[in-house]
Amino acid sequence: MNLNQHTALYGVIGDPVGHSRSPALHNAAFLSTGLNAVYLAFEGKEIEGCIRGIKALGIKGVSVTIPFKTAVIPYLDEIDPLARRIGAVNTIVNNKGRLKGYNTDALGAAKALEERTKLRGMTCLIIGAGGAAKAIGFMLKEKGVTVSIVNRTRKRGETLARSLGCPFVPLVDVEGEKGDILVQTTPVGMYPHINQCPVPEHILEQGMVVMDIVYVPAETRLLKSSRNRGCATISGVGMFIHQGAEQFRLWTGMDPPVEVMNKAVKEALSEQDERN
Ligand code: NAP
Repeated sequence: MNLNQHTALYGVIGDPVGHSRSPALHNAAFLSTGLNAVYLAFEGKEIEGCIRGIKALGIKGVSVTIPFKTAVIPYLDEIDPLARRIGAVNTIVNNKGRLKGYNTDALGAAKALEERTKLRGMTCLIIGAGGAAKAIGFMLKEKGVTVSIVNRTRKRGETLARSLGCPFVPLVDVEGEKGDILVQTTPVGMYPHINQCPVPEHILEQGMVVMDIVYVPAETRLLKSSRNRGCATISGVGMFIHQGAEQFRLWTGMDPPVEVMNKAVKEALSEQDERN
């Protein structure tokens, strides 16, 4: 990269950010499109200071990750209607000091699913009721999917189910549930706990479409079992790439180089696999 006094600065804010593959994804995209821009990881301890830093330093675009996706909202000048409905922002565009928040997690998940299955008229079990489940739940409802929320903690699960207008199922009772699609949104199965599976494996029936949004490892225990039981599987890498691609579009107004982004993330993930 040829960095100079005109280089535009982008980055991710969150805590922790040391594991983030967003720098690999976005720097590969900037390089391949010839943009004079760089993307860094900023570990931020409190959101107000991060926002002041973005404005003061003229950082052009920011990804927002745990724990700031909801906390950032009151500090923004404008919120895109989808992000407002979801109640979480994962992308900030800085337009001459005016910060606008978006949610590309929802679009990223929908695109990853739509590459493998139609959505309208399908039924879907969403495992988990956190920020990602909320984004995906809203998007799938808009796409005409009949959703059920399955969660370990009743209160959180019921709250999300109520806001989506859909049924809640306690995780311990998931055995009797059926869905054309299962979307796993908890951190269960993520490195280093790679042998954990969030649901009993016998509920994975041949023909189901199973997406795990965990992307380290790329094939989680849930996806491995699903594949062995004849389900179509979608890894979290797809959602990650598409949410990043939508960020690139918002920041630059250009079509994202999705294949380049895909290759960069897969390389970054395989380097990690080799280190483990
Ligand atoms: P979050 O808001 O903290 O929600 C976590 C959810 O997981 C909650 O519903 C929680 O249930 C459940 N959970 C946590 N530990 C559990 C366990 N041991 N057993 C059963 N349920 C458990 O997190 P989030 O922002 O939604 O993110 C969730 C995961 O998605 C993270 O691993 C994140 O890296 C990943 N993610 C991936 C992408 C992508 O692009 N692929 C994008 C966004 C997020 P309780 O309510 O019972 O606590």
